[in-house]
Amino acid sequence: MNAAPRHVFTVDLEEWFQGLTSTNRDVARWPLLESRVVAATRQLLGILASRRVTATFFVLGHVADHHPALIEEIAAAGHELGIHGYFHRFVNRMTPAEFDAELARSLEALERITGELPAGHRAPYFSINASTPWAFDCLARAGLRYDSSIFPVRSLLYGDPTAPRLPYRVPGHDLWEVPATTLRWGGQNWPVGGGFYLRILPYAVTRWALRRLQAAGEPIVVYHHPWELDTGQRYDAVTARERVTHYAGRRGLADKLQRLLRDFTFGPMRDLVAAQAPVVAAAR
Ligand SMILES: [Zn+2]
Repeated sequence: MNAAPRHVFTVDLEEWFQGLTSTNRDVARWPLLESRVVAATRQLLGILASRRVTATFFVLGHVADHHPALIEEIAAAGHELGIHGYFHRFVNRMTPAEFDAELARSLEALERITGELPAGHRAPYFSINASTPWAFDCLARAGLRYDSSIFPVRSLLYGDPTAPRLPYRVPGHDLWEVPATTLRWGGQNWPVGGGFYLRILPYAVTRWALRRLQAAGEPIVVYHHPWELDTGQRYDAVTARERVTHYAGRRGLADKLQRLLRDFTFGPMRDLVAAQAPVVAAAR
């Protein structure tokens, strides 16, 4: 029996400046920058509620510590909580000990609020790749059950075009890796359905690509940031690249999200992982 593929809607929950490589380096400056995450996240929660979609929110530990009521609101709406590091640092620029500390601090931040330990992790900038084989050891040691930090594409900041495209069990660990969605087309992996790519591509192209994946029985893993919906923010002190990667295509995004959530059925990542495990157990 072929069950319908389980598609996943994920959110990387962070302030607008925490994902900007030009402004996020100096954590001491963060208190000087305007916090806009609550309003943007509430807008997203409204869109998800209007389509009755349950999602997975990978929360930056720093945001959890500064906006615990927002985290409670997300959990009360039934969404799954995972972690997204504490200070939004590149995993591939950390030592294993530094990564252990980031994981512990972000897990504690969420546990203090909800009383529960999250099962999932996404690295800032999808920065787990072939250069960080130790990262899976850290994740397993921290008690995490799945990771969604590998983007099987080649891009400026992140990605590993040779990595598997579909969810897989990490060898030697009780840990699943769930890569962000790509379409294999013309001999290459194309990023579709998430972040910058959802903003930039016409929705008809996104839908065509995602329907192809769905027809092939592949799960769609969409990622999104609340700041992408925030058209009111200022942007001084950003680089030319960030003007495009962070700001292009924002105006049409709310409408694209509505159409995406209408055309495909999404759930939290824990459901996709739970559906994978018995398949592999039976195959062993
Ligand atoms: Zn992020």
